[in-house]
Amino acid sequence: MRCGYCKQEGHNRRSCAALAASEGVCGCPIVTGDSVRLFRGVGTIEGCECKSCDLFRLYNVPTPEIACQILKDKEIAEKLAHEENKWPEMIIINKTRAPIFIYVNGAEPEFKQSIEADTGFKIKYVNPFEEDEISNYIVTDHDYGLKAIFRDIEPKHILKLVSVEYGTKEEITITQEASSVEDKWREAALKAQYLLHQLDRLGVKNNPNYEPIMDMIQDIQYPPYSEQDKERAGVTSGFTNIHETTGINES
Ligand SMILES: [Zn+2]
Ligand SMILES: [Zn+2]
Repeated sequence: MRCGYCKQEGHNRRSCAALAASEGVCGCPIVTGDSVRLFRGVGTIEGCECKSCDLFRLYNVPTPEIACQILKDKEIAEKLAHEENKWPEMIIINKTRAPIFIYVNGAEPEFKQSIEADTGFKIKYVNPFEEDEISNYIVTDHDYGLKAIFRDIEPKHILKLVSVEYGTKEEITITQEASSVEDKWREAALKAQYLLHQLDRLGVKNNPNYEPIMDMIQDIQYPPYSEQDKERAGVTSGFTNIHETTGINES
């Protein structure tokens, strides 16, 4: 089926939107002296912006065939864009030295994803997005377990708030600068602790001038920390290197 009026396929003259638009009536008054003329064919007044004239031009200018072809192309392009937009893409890359965690703020409270250091994660969707749909995520440097909800998450552990909506195509990199101040203190403290240990190993304690200071250093209380924390502070590898070097020298 091809329309005799606009030459497009899929409908005929009777159901042709372009033909219907061309038969519309423009009701905008033309005032000439004392007389007012109302109701005439659409497109009579050059540039009239009434609804009927707009519709007429949309479907009929320059010709019904060209106008309708343009509309069809536009429709196809919009459909393709919609197909693309309803599946948004968000990739979060962890460039900190510790795992980070993504929590969803909203409909799925049990969503949690951990991202190891130097890896990325692409958020996958099972259902397409509506045009006004939005998903919000919180990236933290603290593992709150599986059932964390938004109000449980402390601001100091929030690295980034991420929004994914219809049409989003984005890649977000979480850097060390974003990681929490607490982590930086832990790192600094473990580095200092390591260096003080080295002083001890070098025999500083045997010098009576330094002995009282070294005793005080012994008394410093460190909150619990893990091997992983040490690795992050770069001190485990420090020990490893010294050990390896000694090994080579001995052999
Ligand atoms: Zn038609
Ligand atoms: Zn008009």
